[in-house]
Amino acid sequence: MSEIGSNLLRLQDRIAAACSRVDRVTASVTLMAVSKNQPPERITEAAALGLTVFGENRIQEARAKIHLCSSHLQWQFIGHLQSNKARDAVSLFHTVQGIDSATLASEIQKQAEKQSRRMRVLLEVNVAGEASKFGWNPERLLSEISTLQLLDRLEIQGLMTIAPYCADPERVRPFFRRLRELRDRCAERLDRPLPILSMGMSGDMEIAIEEGSTLVRIGTALFGDRPPIVLSE
Ligand SMILES: *Cc1c(COP(=O)(O)O)cnc(C)c1O
Repeated sequence: MSEIGSNLLRLQDRIAAACSRVDRVTASVTLMAVSKNQPPERITEAAALGLTVFGENRIQEARAKIHLCSSHLQWQFIGHLQSNKARDAVSLFHTVQGIDSATLASEIQKQAEKQSRRMRVLLEVNVAGEASKFGWNPERLLSEISTLQLLDRLEIQGLMTIAPYCADPERVRPFFRRLRELRDRCAERLDRPLPILSMGMSGDMEIAIEEGSTLVRIGTALFGDRPPIVLSE
């Protein structure tokens, strides 16, 4: 079996074990393949194993790669997006995760209007208040979410976070829990469900799933160590 194939089996076991610990069905967790830095051949290999949701964090790289891959794949943007790249993000991606400011949300709204489409988005939260990370302060998001909802080209589907790195993943549990609680409070404010919680990566996905993650973003545990080469224009 290929390296990606055996990695995928291991990941599916890890997801199933975490789900069973908290009485969730495995189908409630989407495994996103984070394909940044991976060449199209590796993406095609992963797609052949049944993976359909792929995450990229650079617009240039995505623009170069997406059209070389099977057209049935669903691409999500997972990085920090500069407002001047909103047009490309809207045309290339199914979902933009990581809407981290009202300015960016308005820019996505504007570009989606121009392109006559609606954009699915997740709002990124800086749950640990790290200076090095993008994302909403939780209280600020709570006070602004009703205004964000007025942007009619945006479908706010939930929240995402990048937890702090800890050698012991158990220590990030409170951050995942905080994101879930914030999601519940935001849903209450909007008076509608926010079904998606994007949290958990290769090192901490079990904890994230136990705390309610519906989408884990997995790079290295699927593809192995990321190659340094980035495919450009
Ligand atoms: C790279 C990346 C991931 C995947 O990280 P791994 O540790 O390789 O699984 C997940 N989310 C975001 C936002 C990333 O940039």
